[in-house]
Amino acid sequence: MLCFETLNLKGMHRLWGRKVSDLAFGEFLQILEWVAKKKHKQVVFVDQWYPSTKTCSSCGHVLESLDLSIREWRCPSCQSVNGRDENASRNICAVGASTVRLGEKRGLEGNPQRAILNP
Ligand SMILES: [Zn+2]
Repeated sequence: MLCFETLNLKGMHRLWGRKVSDLAFGEFLQILEWVAKKKHKQVVFVDQWYPSTKTCSSCGHVLESLDLSIREWRCPSCQSVNGRDENASRNICAVGASTVRLGEKRGLEGNPQRAILNP
């Protein structure tokens, strides 16, 4: 399964290279879906306002704030050390996985932007 934060174009640039910026965002999503289908992978987009960097991926504790310069933080609740990007990507994928389960249960008509799934 591939998980993305919506509008996280920086991350997409890293993954897909310069070409992404030449495409309209919608076109890019179509290509992504097509690639995912070919590889039998699900593609899930997570709301950009989800506090992925501030949420502990071990216990779910959410920090009140996290300075942009901080690359690593210790969770005050479970004491695990979270690397900023690693923690965020784990959270995004956890939310993505729950979005998929939600989508299977409810259908996605109400929420087309939140999850784009391989049928
Ligand atoms: Zn924790």
